[in-house]
Amino acid sequence: MRIILFGPPGSGKGTQAKLLKGRYCIPHISTGDLLREAVVKETPLGIRAKGYLDSGNLVPDDVMIGLIREVITSGPAQHGFILDGFPRTIPQAEALDRLFGELGIELDGVISLRVEHDEVIRRLSDRRMCRSCGRIFNPAQLQRNDVSKCPQCGGELFQRSDDTPETARRRLEIYLRDTKPLKEFYRQSNRFLQIDGMREISGVHEEIVSILQKGRAKNPTSP
Ligand code: AMP
Repeated sequence: MRIILFGPPGSGKGTQAKLLKGRYCIPHISTGDLLREAVVKETPLGIRAKGYLDSGNLVPDDVMIGLIREVITSGPAQHGFILDGFPRTIPQAEALDRLFGELGIELDGVISLRVEHDEVIRRLSDRRMCRSCGRIFNPAQLQRNDVSKCPQCGGELFQRSDDTPETARRRLEIYLRDTKPLKEFYRQSNRFLQIDGMREISGVHEEIVSILQKGRAKNPTSP
């Protein structure tokens, strides 16, 4: 299975990708996670990407296309994957289609999580990430727990530097300008399915699973 989870920052792509990874045992490829890891390790990629991440801007297409080619052609992703955070621009989507053509593989579908803009800003500003396992938590998930500790692994929770309200707004603007046009790109090739991302995490997950079981993402009948 090869799917793209699409949507604005904070729409739940990472959370849903982790659930799907557990269910289907296929790698979750998050370009944001790969970049953050590179920044922490101070690799040449991380050193180049840091300023873009901190300001909420997109890392240049050539860097991202090179990175995704490397990951998709590597062992674990050869038989399937969930892409989260890539593509984010039309040139990235075109390069991905060319790569699939070269490798003779097909995309099963693009599942888009629709979330209202005010909710995006609220979710990004309120959420916390675990420094150890990378999971993201919203305030409701932390209510009965110590807000500084990850309920899953006990790691330290922190606010991502690009989740402050100001940078969150910038990321939403960039999504609307550069990434949203991809909806039309994938709609034209009949690979796009939009679902309501405002509901509970488990409800969204079940709908994605039902779409994948029916093969509807590849040949959608709804908007
Ligand atoms: P994310 O965790 O997916 O929200 O990504 C965090 C940040 O990583 C983004 O705000 C960008 O700076 C960078 N990034 C992640 N994926 C991409 C991509 N496909 N193209 C350009 N920049 C990216």
